[in-house]
Amino acid sequence: MVFFEARNLVKFFGELPAVNGIGFRVEQGEIFGLIGPNGSGKTTIFNLINHFITLDAGEIFFYGKDLHGLAPQRINKLGIARTFQTPQISFSMSVLDQVTAAAFCRTNRMKQARESARECLAFCGLESRGEYPAAGLPVGLRKRLELARALATRPQLMLLDETFSGLNPSEINQALDLIKKINSQGITLIIIEHIMKVIMAISDRILVINHGRVITEGTPETVSQTPQVIEAYLGKKDRAGIDSVVNAGGRG
Ligand code: ADP
Ligand code: MG
Repeated sequence: MVFFEARNLVKFFGELPAVNGIGFRVEQGEIFGLIGPNGSGKTTIFNLINHFITLDAGEIFFYGKDLHGLAPQRINKLGIARTFQTPQISFSMSVLDQVTAAAFCRTNRMKQARESARECLAFCGLESRGEYPAAGLPVGLRKRLELARALATRPQLMLLDETFSGLNPSEINQALDLIKKINSQGITLIIIEHIMKVIMAISDRILVINHGRVITEGTPETVSQTPQVIEAYLGKKDRAGIDSVVNAGGRG
């Protein structure tokens, strides 16, 4: 059975197609990169998968189950969690309470939800921050809070929308380590990312889109050698940087 499959996704906003016939498959355990210029439809694909918005056409299957018409909470319960381009967190609520609320996805008991939340906070290196409101967290830790909250729903598949944006180089390296650690727990990841070196280094396969359509799909090596990708999207100047990452052994 295919772990995850999106078939011929279509979404119009007014007259304009944001996503116009995109399809892809993701294998269990993979890190699947999704890249494309600003406005190419990446976040819309995530919104369609977890049903924040409704498809105009197309189908989405998870473990062979058609997700059509299911509410976001139901999709989360089936095992798909996500994070957001701009962290969608409460500034006033404590860090622990926010992750605890997510943990109620799997239990009705406060004690269990708390335990699960503490475990996820520790996994993300936030154990010392639990009692404080999220407002005090710098951007890098807000992103980690979102990861912890998504993890607390005990997902099989996580959709990560620009987890690395706004981070400095050392925070990027920490986030890379955390994401590899999440993946090594057996959690499959679809990652939207605009930092080329990051996506090339971490992904098993990459889907490149533009104007709501697929440009190409393949391994980082293949994708980075596609002339259309180099010229239309990556720009020749990025080429050297990509080569150095790809040749350094990919995600390692
Ligand atoms: P990306 O994440 O690749 O930068 P998006 O998926 O956010 O791109 O957006 C794709 C296109 O759809 C853009 O032109 C954007 O303006 C438009 N769009 C996205 N969401 C909405 C919305 N809720 N209403 C109207 N237009 C939207
Ligand atoms: Mg986006």
